[in-house]
Amino acid sequence: MHSQDVTWILRLSGWLVAIFIAVSTPLTFAIVSLNDVRANLESTGRLSAGRAARYIFANQRMWEFQRVRLEEVIELPIAEHALYRQSIISGSGGEVYADTHSVITPILTSRQPILVAGKVVGELVIQSSARPVLVKTVWIAAFSSLIALFSLAVVHFWPIRLINRMLSSLASEQERTSIALQDLQTSDEVLKSRSEQLIEAQKLGRIGDWSLNIGNNDLFLSPIIADLLCLDQLTSLPSLPGIKSMLMPGSAAKLERLIADVIRSRSAKTTDVDFRRGDGTIAYLAITCRPVPRDDGRIAEIGGTIQDITERREAAEQLEQLAYFDTLTGLANRALFKRELTEVLDRVAQSDDVAALLLIDLDRFKEVNDSLGHGAGDELLRVVSRALTATLKNRHFIARLGGDEFAIILSEPSDRMRAEAIAREVIEELAKPMVLGLGEVRIGGSIGIVMLPTDGASAEEATRHADLALYRAKDQGRGRFAFFEHEMSDFIQEKMALARDLRIAASDNSGLEAWFQPQINLATDTIAGFEALMRWKHPTRGYVPPGEFIPIAESSSLIMDIGHWMMRESARTAKAWIDAGHPPYEIAVNLSAAQIWQTNIEEDVARVLKETGLPPQLLCIELTESLLADHTEGRVRRALTRLKALGVTLALDDFGTGFSSLGYLIQLPFDKLKIDRIFVSGAATSEKMQHVLQGIIALGHGLGMKVVAEGVEELEELALLKRLGCDQVQGYIFARPAPAHIAITYAARGNDHERQVA
Ligand code: C2E
Ligand code: CA
Ligand code: CA
Repeated sequence: MHSQDVTWILRLSGWLVAIFIAVSTPLTFAIVSLNDVRANLESTGRLSAGRAARYIFANQRMWEFQRVRLEEVIELPIAEHALYRQSIISGSGGEVYADTHSVITPILTSRQPILVAGKVVGELVIQSSARPVLVKTVWIAAFSSLIALFSLAVVHFWPIRLINRMLSSLASEQERTSIALQDLQTSDEVLKSRSEQLIEAQKLGRIGDWSLNIGNNDLFLSPIIADLLCLDQLTSLPSLPGIKSMLMPGSAAKLERLIADVIRSRSAKTTDVDFRRGDGTIAYLAITCRPVPRDDGRIAEIGGTIQDITERREAAEQLEQLAYFDTLTGLANRALFKRELTEVLDRVAQSDDVAALLLIDLDRFKEVNDSLGHGAGDELLRVVSRALTATLKNRHFIARLGGDEFAIILSEPSDRMRAEAIAREVIEELAKPMVLGLGEVRIGGSIGIVMLPTDGASAEEATRHADLALYRAKDQGRGRFAFFEHEMSDFIQEKMALARDLRIAASDNSGLEAWFQPQINLATDTIAGFEALMRWKHPTRGYVPPGEFIPIAESSSLIMDIGHWMMRESARTAKAWIDAGHPPYEIAVNLSAAQIWQTNIEEDVARVLKETGLPPQLLCIELTESLLADHTEGRVRRALTRLKALGVTLALDDFGTGFSSLGYLIQLPFDKLKIDRIFVSGAATSEKMQHVLQGIIALGHGLGMKVVAEGVEELEELALLKRLGCDQVQGYIFARPAPAHIAITYAARGNDHERQVA
């Protein structure tokens, strides 16, 4: 829109507003007030007419001649008396009575009939003056006109002047810019002609000359410097105080020191300063300064170069940031951690101080990462690093060493008790729910502690020992801390060696075996199927119990490899049995949490079924309750539903040992419920436990699941389970887990003969 249009619209609306204010206010007042007067007039008239009517009714004859009585009857209270003039007109039209006083014009009149027994016998005329209302209206009109004039001035004149001023300042700005440009061009041309190459070189190097006359403080800056520092050379000549005022705190003193040093020492010096450019950005400048002696040897002038090293310094800072800080959390990274640890070790070696290294590993981080995705995992790491920073209140060094591993170096003199107190604080903090975008998660953390320098003389040794202590802390159950102790080495090193050997076994496919333990159908006393249990024959140590090596595999991705091998091997064996003419046995395979959440499990299962040719309904997948505990309900349900869609059977293993809500478990599509051994072994002797067992079996049946009891060793237990209606049992009473060929011979024999047990 044109500025003239704007002006015109503003002007017009200014007038409209003013007129509206000037007219509407008095008019509204007059209308409201006159209405009010009229209403009063009428109600007063009606009252008087009523009183007159009552008097006339009582004196029907001769009332027209009772002027004095009539006056008394209709007389108004003193205050109102003067405002009104009343008169009574008889039916024939003659004036019977009238107040003697008059009212001022203009006059409002109201006529009220006097009704006696339903007949109009006369009329009461009441009058009042509208003069007071009119006078007030005139005053209000005058006042509102004043306001209107004022608003007209505000709306009308002011913005127009403002706009005009803005427009003219814009125009002069434009003019100035073009003059400045012209000036720049001419000065640039002059300079170019003087020493074009030098300037180009200086420009490239972002460097220029300066000099200062010590006598009169005259400052010269080459145009390149003025450019680099965004100094408006045209409006103000550079001066030393002007330049100083643009230096950041601390830098002005540095510059003064430089100048003083140079004059005193009569030699060249350099310094770096931080400078706020004319456009507000910060520049880092390297200033060189040397004395310029006169012929008589006195120093009248100093000068040198100023170089803008902002980019160089920023690049160096960025490099350092990249090299030493973790980009995800902003904490120090492993490289900076190592440097800091070495420095701390050097320091404590030279004093009597003690420091400590805390190595933190998050519990259940992997599960969050696997089940909620890497985005949530990253977010969690950021939340954790913030929590750690807040807990330690900047007093100690924190680093993220990679993955979900963090380190804290307590470098203030820290004894064991202090390290322990901080470890407790951190563990407590990590045990709190962490709020992520997708919802709350609970993780927790374990900590290994090493006292320095006693338990770690070098950075490498300290870290290794902290690792061992951490391992021990995790081994004792999560959410704990452990101090490094020298005996730890052997114990943990053995476990680490085991992990290495297991890795070799998995990759060479040597030493891993699938063993089978039969499950007996109690109604028919026949073998319904087998649970496949993994065995590992270590080259030198013999069989390692699964309770020992499965957790080792689960702490890395190894479980995926051996778990997959196990499923394939079990399916292959089961199919081979069918092919050899045995009845179809169901094979139950145990799956670990990581296998469900970290792989595309239903594809894996489908592939195994296809490749081995095992009918899906013969494969049962055993999942433990604890596997479900850390995951969201929707995700668990989806995973299980996808598995079920393949036609396989799902069993809920170790029922009763986890902490999941029963309501949640029973909504999931399990076909089988496996009662943990602890319920079975207690039941034969304790009546209370029998009730529990009975309850579990009834619950399973109520939900349409088959109930399998594990770890049956005694005849009484078997009899009890039979009595309680348990569907299947598995335990040493029938057979221990055994290699495939032994298990199947047992089955063939067992099913041929009638079983001995009750
Ligand atoms: P689980 O799934 O509860 O397996 C049942 C365990 O009870 C087996 O121990 C079995 O040998 C044992 N058992 C069976 N009957 C009796 C009995 O009458 N008395 C006693 N005292 N024990 C009995 P095992 O084979 O040592 O396996 C231990 C655990 O290792 C398993 O517990 C399972 O959680 C895990 N595991 C075994 N094989 C695999 C596997 O291939 N994959 C995964 N992910 N885990 C496995
Ligand atoms: Ca099992
Ligand atoms: Ca079990």
